Amino acid sequence: MSAANSTWEEECGNGERFERVALIMTVTLERGEAWVCVFSCAGWVGVGLGQRSSVFHCLEGNFLRKPRIPGKGTLKIIHLTTRLPKAGETILGHKFFVGFGGKGANQCVQSARLGAKTSLICKVGNDSFGNDYVDNLKKNGISTAFVGQTADAATGTASIIVNSEGQNVIVIVPGANLLLNFEDLKRASDVICKAKVVVCQLEINPAVSLEALKMARASGVKTLFNPAPALADLDPQFYTYSDIFCCNETEAEILTGIPVGNLEDAEKVGHMLLERGCKLVIVTLGAEGCMMMSGDEPIPKHVPAGKVRAVDTTGAGDSFVGALAFYLAYYPKLSVEEMIRKSNCVASVSVQAPGTQSSYPYRKDLPQDLF
Ligand code: ADP
Repeated sequence: MSAANSTWEEECGNGERFERVALIMTVTLERGEAWVCVFSCAGWVGVGLGQRSSVFHCLEGNFLRKPRIPGKGTLKIIHLTTRLPKAGETILGHKFFVGFGGKGANQCVQSARLGAKTSLICKVGNDSFGNDYVDNLKKNGISTAFVGQTADAATGTASIIVNSEGQNVIVIVPGANLLLNFEDLKRASDVICKAKVVVCQLEINPAVSLEALKMARASGVKTLFNPAPALADLDPQFYTYSDIFCCNETEAEILTGIPVGNLEDAEKVGHMLLERGCKLVIVTLGAEGCMMMSGDEPIPKHVPAGKVRAVDTTGAGDSFVGALAFYLAYYPKLSVEEMIRKSNCVASVSVQAPGTQSSYPYRKDLPQDLF
């Protein structure tokens, strides 16, 4: 219990702040002449539902895979209580946690910890939460040149109350996230178009994400798309504008209708997504690693992850995507299979510690043969 709590506090602070932030984020990674731009969406500040649940499992001494909940990772403020309040009731809680997260930010943090230069494009409120969000990015070495702060909306927030049985009530207020727009992209066009890699997700207005992919593609920048949270009616252009389309099992099912419980299911997903126009599909399979398949070589390949003792798999997918962006930018001559193998190694380290960003490894702590 103490380990889980200490990590939460290390990651989230002592409760003075929390919230969801950012709508779109672009991350640029640079190394000498080599630029990588990870363009991602929405940064939620705080602790995700998956993380909360995982931490609760950890507190209980179990080692469980995190729940696959669409939208997980978007919760920021958690109040722990013995029971949920009724309408109009005030009750005492016994713990309060806050933190920084969001898929785009998480992916940036992992890329940066491997040594990449990253930049995030997003929008937060002109408020203390937004200030804290920007500070956290800076502390992680991420460029905030294109993190806008607006007076027209508050920093996005997600608040959760969790009772001792793990039941919760949640309120999400996207706030400034929804204000990231095409103009913001235009302002950041230089960094997007000079990047090595642009990464997008779906935590913001999908049209804005799609536009970022198009801008990148038009400049010959590699595009890595992570369709999270998944949309059943995803604009088909996302398939064709993604050089690499990387989803987890839950997202794969929402996109294709195929429940993914094993490698064979993932292969069916791969074939379907290639038919929709993807060049290369990766389906992450948790402890089983990944399935990859490309249009050039439509034979599925299983890239297994190492066997580790997982304590909290929350944010593993973001660790994987962040690592993959790093390898795409800095080691472009590696085969994609090798990049995936290395990204599996990075992500499998992240699942051995509780928390999300707090569990992401630094280059110095990883086997040097990963570099
Ligand atoms: P998400 O977090 O999006 O649900 P996954 O659970 O599929 O994504 O995990 C992403 C990657 O993290 C996997 O492909 C693997 O590399 C690594 N990973 C996740 N869970 C484990 C685990 N229990 N053991 C080892 N590696 C893991």
